[in-house]
Amino acid sequence: MLDTSPYILYSDGDGNIFEDTTLYAVGRMGWDAVPVPEDEWIELPEGGSLYELPGRKGIGIDIETGGMRLCEKGWAVAAFIPPAHTGLYIAAYETQADAPTLPLFCYTAASWLNDKFYVPAVRIEQDIRQESAGFDDAKVQIGVKDMLAHYPQNRLVQHLANNCALTYHCPAARNYFMGRWECPVPSSPACNANCIGCISFQPEEETIVSTQDRLQFKPTAEEIVEFTVPHLETAPYPIISFGQGCEGEPLLMWETIKKSIIEIRKHTSKGSININTNGSKPAAVEELMKAGLNSIRVSTNSARADIYTKYYQPNNYRFEDIVESLRVVDRYNGWSSINYFVFPGMTDSIAEYEALRELIKTTNLKMIQWRNFNIDPDWYLGKMGITDTGECMGVGQLLELIREEFPALKFGYFNPPSERMKNFDADFAHW
Ligand code: SF4
Repeated sequence: MLDTSPYILYSDGDGNIFEDTTLYAVGRMGWDAVPVPEDEWIELPEGGSLYELPGRKGIGIDIETGGMRLCEKGWAVAAFIPPAHTGLYIAAYETQADAPTLPLFCYTAASWLNDKFYVPAVRIEQDIRQESAGFDDAKVQIGVKDMLAHYPQNRLVQHLANNCALTYHCPAARNYFMGRWECPVPSSPACNANCIGCISFQPEEETIVSTQDRLQFKPTAEEIVEFTVPHLETAPYPIISFGQGCEGEPLLMWETIKKSIIEIRKHTSKGSININTNGSKPAAVEELMKAGLNSIRVSTNSARADIYTKYYQPNNYRFEDIVESLRVVDRYNGWSSINYFVFPGMTDSIAEYEALRELIKTTNLKMIQWRNFNIDPDWYLGKMGITDTGECMGVGQLLELIREEFPALKFGYFNPPSERMKNFDADFAHW
């Protein structure tokens, strides 16, 4: 914990980053720059990176006057904090009129003190499955070679190898080819939502690009079963997860997924079968629970129907449907999580807090995965037409209040394996 405020960072526009010791660093909530309590700064975790923000000037507190002013020395700097950590404040800056929209990453506040970089964040998850130090490229390459040789006709294994593991460097796909933990199973080329910050499809007219391309084919149940059964049988803490960043909405493929689950469970009872989804089709979710689905993760930017609808722009479904999907999983004693996109100033607003409490109660939710929202903050608020985010408490305070009121509710960042669903707080740091 720091005992003094750290200093602001700026870049020279050439990728070189410097500290400005005339300004203390601050954070941002919604549209407002705010001081960050010293005890909320942690060292930038391993695997994190720093971004220079073109066309943006950082905001800081003048160490002499105590007033807020711009850093005129260069572009603003933000941090991309690694998975398993939740950012408490966005980077604070003033955007110039001709500034380009920022790509789909998170922009957490960043600072510097005594030769170290700091970010306002908390480690929300003990699971180490996406620790950068844990990935071994040589093992991934060997795994890719083995699986491609083992499943020469399987289009999904080819997609996971050539696109996901070797091109997008997807941590889930790399874990699959290292023979461990959560294996991704994308299945849907289409989606029934139109999220502003969709990571697999961005409309032509947008200046930013999606971080990965959407799947171009519909896998068969046979293709899915062929490589997932051996993974469930052999991997430590095995999970297979439908619904990945490189596809549309998996519930649009529910018949194929149902057929796959039934076939998988004929061969093995091991591990957990999960679906990451927008939760739009509760009737399909019920069919999958009957077939043997174990857990669901429903993504949302908000527990408020109006804020959700403005972002997801759903086709033929409503916010109430995603709530019902969570209830269905609870009725079948499954594990239900929300993939909650954390945006300081929105997520910790009083209105959102009240709606979140209601959502937790009415769905008997098991877990919140507090995910950093990978989106340009100005672009998001602008597209949503939000000029004032209302009264906010701070993400740190929100975490405390929810933890206090719902002690059985689990906090994390990743889908738990079945072993952890049974005993969540067991020591999973040494897998
Ligand atoms: S639900 Fe997923 S795939 Fe569909 S638009 Fe939203 S982010 Fe994209």
